[in-house]
Amino acid sequence: MVPAEFEVLSKSDGESVVVERPQGGSAVLVVCEHASRMLPERYGTLGLPADALNSHIAWDPGALAVAQGISAALDATLVHQRVSRLIYDCNRPPESPGAMPEKSEIYDIPGNAGLSVEERHARTEAVYIPFHDAIRALIRDRKARGQETVIVTVHSFTPIYHGKTRAVEIGILHDDDSRLADRMLAAAASGDASFKIERNEPYGPEDGVTHTLVLHGLSNGLRNVMIEVRNDLIADQAGQGVMASYLTRLLQQSLDA
Ligand SMILES: [Zn+2]
Repeated sequence: MVPAEFEVLSKSDGESVVVERPQGGSAVLVVCEHASRMLPERYGTLGLPADALNSHIAWDPGALAVAQGISAALDATLVHQRVSRLIYDCNRPPESPGAMPEKSEIYDIPGNAGLSVEERHARTEAVYIPFHDAIRALIRDRKARGQETVIVTVHSFTPIYHGKTRAVEIGILHDDDSRLADRMLAAAASGDASFKIERNEPYGPEDGVTHTLVLHGLSNGLRNVMIEVRNDLIADQAGQGVMASYLTRLLQQSLDA
């Protein structure tokens, strides 16, 4: 039990994990760790200015809408996180400094400075554990009923990082299992070349971004991929729709191949 003074989520904050289309028929299980910039009530602003709280340091802008578009098009189950990654980054293990970052890009995060063991534990229990438990339970239930699982995580990245412009538009990321990523890259190369697509860009496994893939994909022998979309391409509904359709096609071609 977590003592009341370390209660991360109040009643009004609601649950941390959302599962959409739990009975989705697709082999694809869509995961969106950085879907939301929501801060639970007790954290206030974490000492950050409004522009930081709206920026990519708090969430992956546009990623949830794209994930939902893919989920709808494929009839795929979607798991997403309702709490900002500033409280806990669900694509990082608890022991990682990035799980509850004291600094993100150019911002110091005062509300995350020098967190106590109890506070770290409370955040892990409230945000990280339920999220990955939900994915684990889905994989187990699907296996029990003979439904295959392919893990597809959806993220977005900022076009300008530390002052540098990124040319890549879509990153197809993988860890040691590149089966699905290889197929997607091949399908993209043979298609209409709508976007500038790269393997393990703008970052890759060496940056510690494949935690969810390793935890649920590699450890279970399931095909898996992490999709990173440059967030200026999915800033509005039109862009999100175009991207969701494109990625859905790419996934369908890669799974059928
Ligand atoms: Zn992300």
